[in-house]
Amino acid sequence: MTDTQKPIRSLYDILRQERARGFDDSAVIGGLDRFLLRFETELASALGEHPAYASMSPEQRAEWADSAVHSMRETLSSTRAAKTQTRRATRLPRHLQSQPSQPAKQQNREPRKPPTPPAKPARPLHLSDRISLMRGVSSSVQTRMESLGIENVGDLIYLFPNRHNDFSALKRVAQLAPGDDQTCIVHVWEATETMLGKRKSTQAVLRDDTGIVRAVWFNRPWLARQLKPGAQLAISGKLSVFMGNLVFQGPEYEFVDASYERTHTGRLVPVYPTTRGLSIRMLRSLVSQALDACLDQVEDILSEDIRHKTGLMSIRNALQQMHFPDDSASFNAARRRLAFDELFMLQMLVLSRRNEWKTENRSVALDADAKSISAFLDSLPFEPTGAQESALREVLDDIRSTTPMSRLLQGDVGSGKTVVAAAAMIAAILGEKQAAIMAPTEILAEQHFFTICTLLAGQDFEPAGGSIERIQALGIDRQLTVALLIGGLRKREREDIYALISAGLVDIVIGTHALIQSAVDIPNLALAIVDEQHRFGVAQRAALRDKGIEPHVLAMTATPIPRSLELTLYGDLDISIIDEMPPGRQTVQTRFINEDARNSAYEVIRNQLEKGRQAFVVCPLIDESESIDTKAAQEEYERLSVSVYPDRSVGLLHGRMSLTEKERVMGQFERGEIDVLVATPVIEVGIDVPNATVMLIDGAERFGLSQLHQLRGRVGRGLHESYCLLMSKSPGSDATQRLKLLERISDGFRLAEEDLRRRGPGDYFGARQSGVPSSKAAQVTDQDILALARREAVRLLAADPDLSRPENHTLSLTFEKYRERTLAEVS
Ligand code: ADP
Ligand code: MG
Repeated sequence: MTDTQKPIRSLYDILRQERARGFDDSAVIGGLDRFLLRFETELASALGEHPAYASMSPEQRAEWADSAVHSMRETLSSTRAAKTQTRRATRLPRHLQSQPSQPAKQQNREPRKPPTPPAKPARPLHLSDRISLMRGVSSSVQTRMESLGIENVGDLIYLFPNRHNDFSALKRVAQLAPGDDQTCIVHVWEATETMLGKRKSTQAVLRDDTGIVRAVWFNRPWLARQLKPGAQLAISGKLSVFMGNLVFQGPEYEFVDASYERTHTGRLVPVYPTTRGLSIRMLRSLVSQALDACLDQVEDILSEDIRHKTGLMSIRNALQQMHFPDDSASFNAARRRLAFDELFMLQMLVLSRRNEWKTENRSVALDADAKSISAFLDSLPFEPTGAQESALREVLDDIRSTTPMSRLLQGDVGSGKTVVAAAAMIAAILGEKQAAIMAPTEILAEQHFFTICTLLAGQDFEPAGGSIERIQALGIDRQLTVALLIGGLRKREREDIYALISAGLVDIVIGTHALIQSAVDIPNLALAIVDEQHRFGVAQRAALRDKGIEPHVLAMTATPIPRSLELTLYGDLDISIIDEMPPGRQTVQTRFINEDARNSAYEVIRNQLEKGRQAFVVCPLIDESESIDTKAAQEEYERLSVSVYPDRSVGLLHGRMSLTEKERVMGQFERGEIDVLVATPVIEVGIDVPNATVMLIDGAERFGLSQLHQLRGRVGRGLHESYCLLMSKSPGSDATQRLKLLERISDGFRLAEEDLRRRGPGDYFGARQSGVPSSKAAQVTDQDILALARREAVRLLAADPDLSRPENHTLSLTFEKYRERTLAEVS
């Protein structure tokens, strides 16, 4: 056993006895603190900073003992694992770490002061060092830090504060007033332990030569011993009046002595995101320690030239000011610089990916003759809109070239994107290649399967009923094979389809993400279409792309991308917009309805039914779990069919039904055999029944604005006035406001901007779509910084495409790491 291990083992035993005795501090004669003090050095790395044992309540002792045992175990196992010199060399005994100015050991083992000023470790701390090498980081602190994603010193420097407390204005006691953050320098008159409620706490009387002020610290009794009468303190926080006295409530404090650095008081003081058991004060001290020790190791990724052109701060200055700003202007400049870095990296990533894709890959040129395409358009039962035609022209121009297409087709719900996709697929078929379309849900995939067959074969198309259709398309002199590939297929059927596809015998493959599974091989894939693109991540788009030799890619979305995110998310795509609706579309009258008025909603529906129309009732999105959603739908279905509309035909549609069941119900609804269709949110996309004129959305507050807009797009597709009822159980005012937006705004683009503004990009795209690498300094509203980052990234890549110039060396290293991390994050 080594010297360190012995006291640790003894402490183990002591704590076991303490536990048996109800933590009454009787296991060691004279108190446990004596033991701790005696072996302070040996125990330091396992225990770190903690209050005196005597000062804790039995409950606190129990909690402390748990974490102590935990960290001692870790210490033991890590000493076993690495009995190397290095570890011990960096773990100086405590007494060598402290500066001479600090008081020597005190009798009843008081908490150590926060680790300022930094003592010199045996070798200088490095950015890549694990935080356990820092002073004040016990293994329990380390575990908590790791839960915040902080593993090394560099991570700590990049842990940005949520906000700052403005403790900068220094006042005299006589000038203090009740209210917000104020700072003054005082002497301790007296500090005593006291009970506040049921908690042991500290209260203190403080003064300067203009008067007296009090302070209380809830739940921190050990402070009473630390604040010695006469000590000089800087104290910052909020003040209130209690029994006629001004009182600081749990203020930040710092001793004003030779080492006073204004880390916690007397300045703009950073407030960090933290976790249980890790105080902000501790984090702040550690960040300060990290900056002092390692800031000058941070290399700037931006060359002088870029910094000069953009007028941005140097990285070292920015990091210092981000944490401990001189004033709010410096903080803003610092945040701007750090936000620029994040957005710049992202732009570099999308642009380089796009360049690589376009220069290193060659797609098959799909040069459909204009006659075949016009023949197809002429065969449609409607005139394409101008916007559809111009979007189609852009797509056809792209795929005519061997440079791979990467295009996003953006158009509101019902604007007619499918026709554009179908026309592009004809070009692939005429080139004797395969085309595929991937949809986010089985229902939508099935609907596409049917729609695309009908578009190509004509309105009289009769489905054969399986997942393979052979059709005779207009103007194509051979029979086409269209296959549906979704998760729910039977094994046998699925394998047959795989075989046909990989033999090149299927012309068009339509499917869900089952399509991108590795077993699926689409050897002649020349055109890959991703529908409702916003529901998929970047990685899924890439996976479909990998299926073909080098297919052209068309992504379609009805969720318009707010301009502020467009460059970020789709910086690697060209964009076509369908900004015109087919003629005769209705604006859907949208009304917010309180749940109490449920019956009046049913009346609105009945009214429509009496006019011969049909209705959707969408049940709440409860959580990710389909089975709960299904149950809710089942219950609503029973209620409606038994007691509300017993005289009508009510149908049920949910994600758990088998493919044939779903098809049967959809068919009945399409043919008007079902009047009211109760559904889980699976119908969000794709269903097209013009006679349906009213939709009731139950639990509307659980949906995002864009999702509600999508749902609402299922009605108003015919000639009749249509309605959408958003029902909600008295939601908070925020949710109500959100729902009221839908009453006013019918344009999906404006709604998307609103939604983004309210919820931030993470939520906006839901758990599934991410593809937005996490940003720490940048905000959605940083459009000017984004534009600047885009501009500089374009310039830089044009001048130095592989970042080989010496001034871009640091950038190139950092970018490589960023690229790896980001791709791992989004896949
Ligand atoms: P989305 O853009 O939401 O995917 P769809 O492609 O599903 O829209 O089209 C919605 C409906 O509009 C379909 O029934 C389609 O047949 C019809 N449609 C498409 N283009 C036109 C048009 N130019 N004129 C009339 N109806 C159209
Ligand atoms: Mg669509």
